[in-house]
Amino acid sequence: MAADLKPMLDGIFEVGPPPRLLGAECPICKQKFFPKPIVCPHCLEDVKEIKLNTEGTVYSYSILRIPNKLYQFPQPYASGYVDLDNDNIRVYCLFDPEKAEEIRIGQRVTLRVGQIGIGLDGKECLRYYFTPVDGGEK
Ligand SMILES: [Zn+2]
Repeated sequence: MAADLKPMLDGIFEVGPPPRLLGAECPICKQKFFPKPIVCPHCLEDVKEIKLNTEGTVYSYSILRIPNKLYQFPQPYASGYVDLDNDNIRVYCLFDPEKAEEIRIGQRVTLRVGQIGIGLDGKECLRYYFTPVDGGEK
């Protein structure tokens, strides 16, 4: 991966290796969040940044076959939600563009970071995505 590429947004993941999503936990109500909110939306307490689990299970997904003009994602591409192991949190994500047709509900997936599409500045950027645990290596 090109060393000069920047994450799509600062502060939501570490590039690694290993890549990690940066979430938050409320010290009062123990809720976890991704991405990190300004304060806990339930009790307005300050939250603590945490590194989230890197593996989980596909909760839902969609395969999109329309051009994404804003971010120029490859076609088709899959996006959806993953339930992260142990964190009791569901995160919105892209799935591996090279394996969009392989994604299934209930599938085990693992976190990756790579160049996908462009950012709001029009430059190529890094995005987090999940890929199948079995055969997920590119
Ligand atoms: Zn709270």
